[in-house]
Amino acid sequence: MSADVAANLETILHAIRRAERAAQRPEGVTTLVAVSKTFDADEIRPALDAGQRVFGENRVQEAQGKWPGLREAYQGVELHLIGPLQSNKAADAVALFDVIHTIDRPKIARAVAAEIEAQGRAPKLFVQVNTGEEEQKAGVAPRDVDGFLKSCREEFGLTVDGLMCIPPFDDPPAPHFALLQKHARRNGLQKLSMGMSADFADAIPFGATHVRVGSAIFGTRPKP
Ligand SMILES: *Cc1c(COP(=O)(O)O)cnc(C)c1O
Repeated sequence: MSADVAANLETILHAIRRAERAAQRPEGVTTLVAVSKTFDADEIRPALDAGQRVFGENRVQEAQGKWPGLREAYQGVELHLIGPLQSNKAADAVALFDVIHTIDRPKIARAVAAEIEAQGRAPKLFVQVNTGEEEQKAGVAPRDVDGFLKSCREEFGLTVDGLMCIPPFDDPPAPHFALLQKHARRNGLQKLSMGMSADFADAIPFGATHVRVGSAIFGTRPKP
């Protein structure tokens, strides 16, 4: 059964605009990143036909399989990497993505910096913060954010635009969004990637500039 992607997109965009108004934030400050991971090109096309241009994928290889073709067919696609990055995929990631949300350790920062230098192509970068300090989750621990941002800047010469988080599944998300906002403000960062299908409206009052919404647009994914 295929989801009504165009209708879902419209619903989500309306909800984003409503949350912006309620939070007295300027209309349009929040970018919808439509998370198309696990969905194939035929399932993504209705979103492109409806005018959506910003998409998120969590695996480099999967994105390489479907996006070059879609980009040939549709102008102005902006592709975001929202999943963990391995350093042996840094070259491919820098070549394919416009924004990388998951810079979270020196090894990755160094590899991405080297590729930006080598390719002369610079995706915008977010640092992922493990706001819930979950053992199994990627991201920099909150206490290490300032130091990691400093080394991105000074050691690797990277420009970081913002912070990203994935709150723990069982926690109320708002305190995590507030924490991410606090760290961004303290470090003079303008962008915040936070909020998914279940909680994007809660992220907007805390200054989300990018919400990452998948299943509410494309339908439920098979369990990994
Ligand atoms: C899959 C994914 C999303 C989208 O999740 P939904 O609940 O389907 O909206 C957002 N962010 C990241 C990092 C993801 O991996």
